[in-house]
Amino acid sequence: MSEHDTFATAINCIDGRAQGPVMDWARKHLNVRFVDVITEPGDDKVLFNGSEMQKGAIKDKVLVSVRAHNSKAVIVAGHHDCAGNPVSREEHWKEICACVRDIRLWNLPVRVIGLWVNERWEIEVVDDPNHGAEMAIPEVSLDQAHPAH
Ligand SMILES: [Zn+2]
Repeated sequence: MSEHDTFATAINCIDGRAQGPVMDWARKHLNVRFVDVITEPGDDKVLFNGSEMQKGAIKDKVLVSVRAHNSKAVIVAGHHDCAGNPVSREEHWKEICACVRDIRLWNLPVRVIGLWVNERWEIEVVDDPNHGAEMAIPEVSLDQAHPAH
């Protein structure tokens, strides 16, 4: 691995339509060359509401990416028209916010970012501490977004 091989890690849906926008956004805004991708159908739902085993499997994959590739950021993305998680945009945003908070509790030396791929297959930033000016405000409060368990 050379010094030019910079990485970010994305937890994304299996949906092919969601991959390109997230990858492009990461390359542009995080200045990385590669994006490791961990996919689940409806990944935001799985991380928000899946079993401990499902969440643990995702976390293990994230750890491989962060440790092996020194990844700079972990992105969790949700998208419009998701077959694996067919809920409203508001529900997705709530879940993505909760996922971001959970991943921050893993205490990895990375920036944790939540992204939404909208109906035009464009990126909207749900949560990114380094993007204050561009950060969109979700329509639900973080308290509401907290998982019930
Ligand atoms: Zn999906």
